[in-house]
Amino acid sequence: LLEIDSVTKKFGGLVAVDDVSFTVDRGEIVGLIGPNGSGKSTMFNCIMSEYDVTGGTIRFGGEDITDYRTHQVVNNGLSRVSQESNPIDALPVGGNIKLFTLPNSVVSLRGGASEEEIYQYAARVGLESELQELPDELPHADVRRLEVAKALATEPELLLLDEPFAGMNQQEIRELAATFEEFREDGITMVIVDHNMGGLMDLVDRAVVLDNGDKLMEGPPKEVTTDERVRKAYLGGT
Ligand code: ATP
Ligand code: MG
Repeated sequence: LLEIDSVTKKFGGLVAVDDVSFTVDRGEIVGLIGPNGSGKSTMFNCIMSEYDVTGGTIRFGGEDITDYRTHQVVNNGLSRVSQESNPIDALPVGGNIKLFTLPNSVVSLRGGASEEEIYQYAARVGLESELQELPDELPHADVRRLEVAKALATEPELLLLDEPFAGMNQQEIRELAATFEEFREDGITMVIVDHNMGGLMDLVDRAVVLDNGDKLMEGPPKEVTTDERVRKAYLGGT
């Protein structure tokens, strides 16, 4: 479904992503892991065309999307949950979700979801009772769930999740992981970024490990967590 082919991203002299290639098959959940600063979010920004790549090619469903604008990438079926939450504080949960279904600079796909559709997006992340709440009245885990609901509202085929579990307790992590399993059953393919290996490894089919912008290795969770190079990268990381 997604093919990352020799993607490089430089910021001046800094090579944030260095000639990285990997693929994601339809229906998979792939982990993209690595220590802080290894290039995970930069890779997502390249895929979403928030950054222009310095080199390489990104294909989605066989189509070269490397030079697409962000709204074209979204309209093609890709959506991303950013590492930082950015809800509009003046709008309730339902309004924040609805915003992502209205035509705007990023999304031109749809004409605005119905109340029922918005309820369904909220329900898929367990926020159906919070539709009228303002984001700054919500606990952290619910704000993160809202970010996931916003991403869902563009009806993605492939969902990129940047540190979705950060700041959550074990119970919240388990619940969100179960939600992602449901997404998979609904036919959504996922790439999940995490700077830890921990809980993610129960969820993913495969993990790609970045270190200092380089792809260190990829493989099934068991191979990755026991790999000596990965262990060293994490010890050497921040
Ligand atoms: P974390 O786990 O902390 O989120 P990460 O793996 O997501 O880390 P990136 O945010 O992709 O790492 O950063 C990779 C490198 O690129 C870092 O050295 C970072 O400082 C640099 N970088 C990222 N975005 C920019 C930018 N817009 N301008 C300059 N340098 C950047
Ligand atoms: Mg990051």
